Amino acid sequence: DLVVELEAVDKWYGDYHALRRVTLGVARGERVAICGPSGSGKSTLIRCVNGLERHQRGTIRVDGIALDAAGAGLAAVRRRTGMVFQNFNLFPHLTVLDNLTLGPIYAGGEPAAAAEARALALLDRVGIADQKDKFPGQISGGQQQRVAIARALMREPAVMLFDEPTSSLDPERVQEVLAVMEELAQAGMTMLVVTHEMGFMRRVADLVVFMDQGEIVEAAPPELFFTAP
Ligand code: ADP
Ligand code: ADP
Repeated sequence: DLVVELEAVDKWYGDYHALRRVTLGVARGERVAICGPSGSGKSTLIRCVNGLERHQRGTIRVDGIALDAAGAGLAAVRRRTGMVFQNFNLFPHLTVLDNLTLGPIYAGGEPAAAAEARALALLDRVGIADQKDKFPGQISGGQQQRVAIARALMREPAVMLFDEPTSSLDPERVQEVLAVMEELAQAGMTMLVVTHEMGFMRRVADLVVFMDQGEIVEAAPPELFFTAP
């Protein structure tokens, strides 16, 4: 049962060949870490899975829905993915609570009381219910990223996509975000994570995929990369 399926995917930016025949499957409940040098196509891969970028050849399916090269299936795939970015992408002029509820209420048509109840439960789950009335600029980076994770979970996604979720955090804030990601993994969430974070690869990932120059050059369980001390 594959939640994310890429088959021989190619992506070009103009003449630049950013993804080269990338084939990857992520099973339900599986956690895949993507690593590799800067510019190797990691972010492009994840953005293609979310339909933020279009691939030109091959097939991408999310939860069984094809995101074909012509762009059909885009809205359906977006509803099934939760995306977390390096720089949080919260709305600065909305409170934490409103950041979670605005989309479901105004785009999704959910009754405000129901959206608020779900939002409070998710903020509690990521440990920041007490910050609900603050604005993003008033809380730490680690807290902002946990808000972003809770916002993505509001969509009840089939898969969570993370693009370097801890890269812009102070070292002491990294652990609090990793702890939330670890809890999600324990709850059975399917996750595709671009990361340099060894802690995530060792503790959470089932599979580590190495990219180089647009290709997957290696894919193996973390214990094959990190020998136990
Ligand atoms: P990574 O996430 O591994 O650092 P990216 O997927 O961001 O790599 O980028 C892969 C390559 O594609 C890089 O050479 C980058 O410069 C290029 N690239 C990324 N986005 C664009 C874009 N919008 N237009 C042109 N080139 C891009
Ligand atoms: P879409 O048009 O992609 O369905 P919405 O208008 O429903 O997006 O977005 C509602 C809220 O969810 C906004 O705050 C938006 O920034 C955020 N959002 C949109 N796409 C995602 C995603 N894939 N993961 C997490 N949050 C998202």
